[in-house]
This record gives sequence, structure tokens and C-alpha cells, in this order.
Amino acid sequence: MHKNIRIKTGDITKEQVCAIVNAANSSLLGGGGVDGAIHRAGGDAILEACKEIRAGRYPEGLPTGEAVATTAGAMDASYVIHTVGPIFSRCGNACESLLASCYTNSLNVALELGCKDIAFPAISTGIYGYPKEEAARIAYRSVKDFLDEGHEMTVSFVFHNAQDRKIFEESIRGL
Ligand code: ADP
Repeated sequence: MHKNIRIKTGDITKEQVCAIVNAANSSLLGGGGVDGAIHRAGGDAILEACKEIRAGRYPEGLPTGEAVATTAGAMDASYVIHTVGPIFSRCGNACESLLASCYTNSLNVALELGCKDIAFPAISTGIYGYPKEEAARIAYRSVKDFLDEGHEMTVSFVFHNAQDRKIFEESIRGL
């Protein structure tokens, strides 16, 4: 395990880090799963900031694989970095590169914000249906490659339950 990677079980909205990542949808206007939890915990300030992004930089919505930051509102984190994971049934042979882009682009946004720590949920593995084992390997490799470039960042993977955490840990064994 890379020395700057942590694996946890819990609610990502409670993480005391500079940035938490949201597995958003391209509308940026909220949804279920971790997206709903983040908007509920952070309050209206997040939705307002997302609406501004839709009115400005991304009128058509945030493309899959891209990442953009807003305030974290009432949460302990300073920022939410919204990224849109691929929908597994629709991404064809682009699935792996799109999921990897979610991680890499989010990390680069965190870097630009001056963050030294960041927490990720298991992007695309809920409603978007990405097989958890494969998603784990892509997530871990993307983060490890970024850290191996020498960036100073502590990266937490936060799983909603112990079972998902176990799948992740077993899937990345030997990587
Ligand atoms: P996607 O649409 O990208 O699949 P989901 O929100 O449906 O996103 O699921 C992504 C992952 O986030 C799932 O593994 C789900 O169990 C997990 N999740 C849901 N709520 C939370 C939370 N509060 N903290 C951390 N992970 C969560």
C-alpha cells in the first residue's frame, strides 16, 4: 500500500479533509447515493454553486470524466470536487479511461486548490453499475500513479460499508 493512501469505512460527508469528491451526475443538480448525501450535509450553498457552474463554464452539464470544485457548505471539508463517473452499460471501451480520468482530474483540481488531502467515494460503483472489483483496480492505479509523480497529497478511499471496503482491499492486492 502506498504510504499516502488510506482506506476507510464510513460516511464521506463527515471527512475532515480539504476536499471530498462527489460522484455526481452531469446535471450537477443533485441526485441519489453519495451525491444526495453530500448535498444534504452541505446545504444549499453547494447547489447554488453548481447552478453557477451550469450557467457559466458548463451550460450543457459536466462531461463524464471531468471534475469541478465548489464550496463544501456546512461540511467540515473546504471543497467538494464534483466528478461524473461513466455509466457502465453505456461507456463501451471507454469505461476504464473515463473512470481513471475522474480520479486524475479530481486530484489535479485538488492540487490547484492547494489541498493536501482528499477523500474519494467509490465512483460509478452504485447507481452507475461499474463492477466493484474492476473499479477498485482503476481507482487505486490512478491514485498511485498520481502520487508516484511526487505530488504531496494524502488520499482516502471511503466506503459506505465494510463489504465494499473488503472488495476494494482484495481487488487491489498485489498492485
Ligand atoms: P454512482 O452514480 O457514481 O454509481 P452512487 O452514489 O450511486 O454513485 O454510488 C457510489 C458509491 O458511493 C457506492 O459504493 C455507494 O455505496 C457509496 N456511497 C453512498 N453514500 C455514501 C456516503 N455517504 N459516503 C461514502 N460513500 C457513499
